[in-house]
Amino acid sequence: MKTEIPSTKNKNLVRQLTRLVEISVQLNSTLDPDLLLRYIIETAADILECETASILLYNEKQGDLSFISSSGSDRRKLAQIPVPIEGSIAGLIFKTNQPMVINDVEQDSRHYQQVGSQLQFQAKNLLGVPMRIKNEVTGVLEALNKRTGDFNQGDVDLLFIIADQAAVAIHNAQLVHKLRNAYDELSRVDKIKSDFIAVASHELRTPLGVILGYASFLTEEAQGDISDHANHVMKAAIQMRGLVQAMTNMNLMQIGSLELELTEVNLGEVIQAACDELRSSFIEKNHQLEIAIDPTVGPVRGDRDKLKKVLVNLLDNAIRFTPENGQITVRLSGTPHQALIEIIDNGIGIPAFELENIFKQFYQVEGHLTRRFGGMGLGLAIARGLVDLHKGKIWAESAGVGTGSTFRVSLPRK
Ligand code: ADP
Repeated sequence: MKTEIPSTKNKNLVRQLTRLVEISVQLNSTLDPDLLLRYIIETAADILECETASILLYNEKQGDLSFISSSGSDRRKLAQIPVPIEGSIAGLIFKTNQPMVINDVEQDSRHYQQVGSQLQFQAKNLLGVPMRIKNEVTGVLEALNKRTGDFNQGDVDLLFIIADQAAVAIHNAQLVHKLRNAYDELSRVDKIKSDFIAVASHELRTPLGVILGYASFLTEEAQGDISDHANHVMKAAIQMRGLVQAMTNMNLMQIGSLELELTEVNLGEVIQAACDELRSSFIEKNHQLEIAIDPTVGPVRGDRDKLKKVLVNLLDNAIRFTPENGQITVRLSGTPHQALIEIIDNGIGIPAFELENIFKQFYQVEGHLTRRFGGMGLGLAIARGLVDLHKGKIWAESAGVGTGSTFRVSLPRK
């Protein structure tokens, strides 16, 4: 069998193709802009066997090109030398969207002398190609001082392949960078919000305690009209305490410092206690309440008070989002592995696309401004956080607006 020995030309082609495949893999897997740029120019210089390569990107604000990376030369110095669109070879490549080969750069009147003189670098020959995304030119990729003669058409084709891939990779890296910045900014704003809620709820607690103390004293002592007024103050203060507690709980949950006190919890008893707590609200709106508890459902391991909080939040919603004379049913059923609580109302219902949104903090289907139903949009977020802590699930179902809603909580029994 005769084995073909590859010629030097073929060997070079294989080397170039291998490097091109390598660069494409690398560009697709690197999102660190600095690493990406360095890789592009080092590969370009290597494939084209030249002394240095550089990338210039268009600067929209200044209307010029700036070096964002270069092999060999002093990168920091280069970055500080803007290259004008008019009066430079790179500018011409950018403007005309055409590649250029110049074999005697110093003699070329279009050469922008500033760069060479500031870096003491002598450009002999140059190949530059536009970098494009779709049809828009975003910058220029240049290779300088080929070690093995002049640049040829093959070099132009190779540099074009690298430039096309590089343009997309740089664009993606820039997008990721912007996204990261936006995410950081969002986290910063979110932290300000959390800090504000923490401070506000903490500072409100003391004066609220005083109001509740005196209001309760007044309700016991006062008579006639004054007793009526005192009752109003007391009711409003209790409502306010609920809001402050919701803010505190949400914050504690967010920073992960809410802990469960685990015991064996009888869910039927917790359901009854939650309904009892809201008895006056049921009466006020004249809702019918039906409680259906399967007595065979055994206890779950959980935090009784926190599970009661979940139910109070869900029941409170069912009461508020159901017009007067409504029907609210609470059911407990289960299997050996899980307990299922359902809270069913025949109220205003929830549009399908909002069924998940309503569990986000401060989210309200009606928006905060209408304030038809009151509330802060924290009840369900807290309920979900507490159910998550119990490794359970909570979700909402509704056939749409006007058809009532069902909230389900499933809790593991083992
Ligand atoms: P809040 O009740 O304070 O607004 P929640 O987090 O408890 O906050 O609820 C978020 C939103 O979900 C409510 O504003 C309401 O739009 C919707 N929602 C919750 N429960 C019901 C329900 N039973 N029926 C209809 N809509 C509901």
